[in-house]
Amino acid sequence: MAPHPPPPLEGRKRRIAMMTSGGDSPGMNAAIRAVVRMAIEKGCEAYCVYEGYDGLVQGENFIRKFEWPDVRGWLSEGGTLIGTARCMAFYERPGRLKAAKNMVLNGIDALIICGGDGSLTGADKFRAEWPGLLHELVENKELTAEQVEPFKHLNIVGLVGSIDNDMSGTDATIGCYSALSRICEMVDYIEATASSHSRAFVIEVMGRHCGWLALMAGVATGADFVFIPEKPRAENWKEEMCKIVARHRQIGKRKTIVIVAEGAHDQDGNKISPDMIKDLLADKKGLALDTRITTLGHVQRGGVACAYDRYLATLQGVEAVKAVLEATPETPTPFIAITENKICRKPLVQAVLDTKEVAKAIEAHEFDRAMSLRDTEFSDIYDSYMTTTTTDLNDAMRLPPQKRMRIAIIHVGAPAGGVNAATRAAVAYCLTRGHTPIAIHNGFAGFVRHHDDKPLGSVREFDWLEVDNWASKGGSEIGMNRELPKESGMETVAALFKQYNFDGLFLIGGFEAFHALSQLRQAREKYSSLCIPMTLLPATISNNVPGTEYSLGSDTCLNELVRYCDTIKQSASASRRRVFVIETQGGRSGYIATLAGLAVGAVAVYTPEEGVSIDMLAADIKHLKQVFKEDSGQSRAGRLILINEKASPVYHAKLIADMIRQEAQNRFETRDALPGHVQQGGTPSPMDRTRAVRLAIKCIEHLEKYEDRADSAILADPQSSTVIGIKGASVVFSSMKDVEEKETDWPNRRPKDEFWLGLKDVVDVLSGRPEVPRPESPLLGWKAKDNKRGLI
Ligand code: ADP
Repeated sequence: MAPHPPPPLEGRKRRIAMMTSGGDSPGMNAAIRAVVRMAIEKGCEAYCVYEGYDGLVQGENFIRKFEWPDVRGWLSEGGTLIGTARCMAFYERPGRLKAAKNMVLNGIDALIICGGDGSLTGADKFRAEWPGLLHELVENKELTAEQVEPFKHLNIVGLVGSIDNDMSGTDATIGCYSALSRICEMVDYIEATASSHSRAFVIEVMGRHCGWLALMAGVATGADFVFIPEKPRAENWKEEMCKIVARHRQIGKRKTIVIVAEGAHDQDGNKISPDMIKDLLADKKGLALDTRITTLGHVQRGGVACAYDRYLATLQGVEAVKAVLEATPETPTPFIAITENKICRKPLVQAVLDTKEVAKAIEAHEFDRAMSLRDTEFSDIYDSYMTTTTTDLNDAMRLPPQKRMRIAIIHVGAPAGGVNAATRAAVAYCLTRGHTPIAIHNGFAGFVRHHDDKPLGSVREFDWLEVDNWASKGGSEIGMNRELPKESGMETVAALFKQYNFDGLFLIGGFEAFHALSQLRQAREKYSSLCIPMTLLPATISNNVPGTEYSLGSDTCLNELVRYCDTIKQSASASRRRVFVIETQGGRSGYIATLAGLAVGAVAVYTPEEGVSIDMLAADIKHLKQVFKEDSGQSRAGRLILINEKASPVYHAKLIADMIRQEAQNRFETRDALPGHVQQGGTPSPMDRTRAVRLAIKCIEHLEKYEDRADSAILADPQSSTVIGIKGASVVFSSMKDVEEKETDWPNRRPKDEFWLGLKDVVDVLSGRPEVPRPESPLLGWKAKDNKRGLI
């Protein structure tokens, strides 16, 4: 142990330590990488504390200075590479006193902790006690007053790392979507065997006080029943479950899946175990189903982080360092949260208190309060789930006959993950309300050309038994087509709307769907049959639909790309010195390329928004040469460059790879790679599936508001044709007219203001890309040679 703290760094530079604590979760390594590199970028020194609070209490070798290359390749590693532990000593003041002394002796004045609510409670206690601990260390003569003087103010910032998503105040915790992916993957496997043997499966997932995993898995897989701690079922849950399962079997379902959180209980607090559920399902006098139990256990923690967790952890790590640097002695200790799509700082103390309140409310059987303390998405999803599982058993939800609508559902564009899940949810909601959901097969082209084909025309009422299987299916079950209504013939389209007597239209798709809706909206003046409410749920891997920051399918695509990049990166480990230039899809939007670059740590990302120039390529090649010169083979994985398919009309992946090869002069190898349609993904990601359900139901609810409006009222109301979107911290329905006129870059088929543009700088900074000359870009507001970053 150093006998004296090192002298303070010049200026406002800090020594920032990063620690992971409590249960491990996928994405923690991404957070460490981001904190270490961002701290260094900002001129600070970065440290890591090994083994959680244990390391802080023990000091010595457990606190290590980190340099830039030390976190290379960490994005694609599961768990936490600096270890985590439960530490009894830290619960007691003497333990915390030792920890304080070790912090001072290492000169550390800021601590970023990634852990669950326990770890963050400990952190908050530590900070509150800090002045007292320093005082005691001086009193005991363990340190001198001069030694502690520069450490008067300790900054702590929390990052929530937990697979349970059990922290109040944030929509997602680092690791929860990876755990959910694992669970859904397992349930998808089990479903196949369940269906083959016509069996029932009771699947137990983690979550002692928090049913997020169980609920989201239920929604994503279309499970028959879920049990969560926050919302125990009614007293007659046994009959309720058996009734629903029996009904599903009666309409022809061959499999039964019940998901139960480990903390599930009834309204009196008695545990509901998988065995109890199994006995009910297997009971010979009742359902008599061949029933098995699967307890998923620790596989839920395992594996590499999904794309979203890498993104979340990276951006939150960057934000945590900024929070340290901007903190004043008066700033309350923050933790970094995410609300919908917005990363924000919130007071740590309140979040910890609220989280504890949930557990207390559950113990006191105040379940409504427990639900209200969770974020809004949670209760939204719960309601969505209930709607999709009890379509014809929910009399309370049924509308009177005069309020029921004929709602047409159409897919326009190219397939994207979540399109079927959205359709299933919309159909379920329609059936629950008494509406008639009608499928238009194969887009507007199919509608116009094949609507009266016998026996299977393109306009058909949905059959629930068929649709019920779609929760986890990729592609588009009713068929998609890019053709626009004007191309199909607007007059015919309008005549068909009249013939089939549609009262509302629900479109799912990408930019073409947006364009189609724009055409229909504008044609309303001419055709009264089009004076019906219409809404679009954006779904495209390119994520380029104006009116939203997130389109269904973009998360699935990112996961596929990340998997592809991880594999390809590893394939270079034998030869060690290899650069891959990977071409991504995305149309004229660089979203997918940039976000994948963020999740895999690309050395450069080329986007259509920014473009590519010869100077830029030259600078990047020079940088690569430098990287390989300094790296004598210790880091084995390959380096990646991502280029969007339309980043440049001239410089495509192969050409760039050839240029690099020429310049490398055999000092390293280069390959181009084209993942192509792999990017559309096989099975959609759980995020795409669950968001599909939530947003689709909101869309039909929105259409319902216009059930009795006259044509003139529809024409006059801008909200009668909308696009649903996630914008910043909210889910909003934006009027198509506004979005078309103000927010759309029509020639480039993307939003004018793309929220993620600043993220490119994050990719560059964290991968160590030097400032490179950027092509002139009016969109991004810089001129040739004006190459300053500055967005982060
Ligand atoms: P998690 O952070 O995943 O919720 P724990 O609750 O086990 O996990 O907390 C991790 C560690 O944080 C504990 O082993 C302990 O060292 C520290 N800790 C938790 N709660 C407190 C507390 N109330 N006071 C002091 N330290 C705490």
